[in-house]
Amino acid sequence: MAEHELRDILQSHGLKATSHRLTILDYLMTHETHPTAEMIHADLSAISLATIYNTLEKLVASGIVIVIDTQRDDKRHYDFYGEPHYHIINSRTNEIIDADNFDVTPLVDAARDASGLNITGFHIEVYGVNPDDAI
Ligand SMILES: [Zn+2]
Repeated sequence: MAEHELRDILQSHGLKATSHRLTILDYLMTHETHPTAEMIHADLSAISLATIYNTLEKLVASGIVIVIDTQRDDKRHYDFYGEPHYHIINSRTNEIIDADNFDVTPLVDAARDASGLNITGFHIEVYGVNPDDAI
């Protein structure tokens, strides 16, 4: 990812473009693995784990990155959330699969009707198992 694009993303969310933020944002944008902080640290070992955690929390607080808690492994998984998409989590393997190709309009409409709010965003996690693995 070109550095000026990374800088634009950080600055448009009110964050200074520090070298750690640039490096970790670039990592998240180029790895669709929904990594944990430990996984990022394994690849970016020059940055301390504490710094990775602190940087991730800043990116999450600014809305650039989201946390996915699969409720399966007690770990926080991080994801660059440039384009809204949905996560389908394999309950057996904890694999997090990106999906952006199904229609959630009825769900958004129902949420608006139930709350009276204009829906401005959402994050959906769906759980499933491979039918071949089903008991
Ligand atoms: Zn994702």
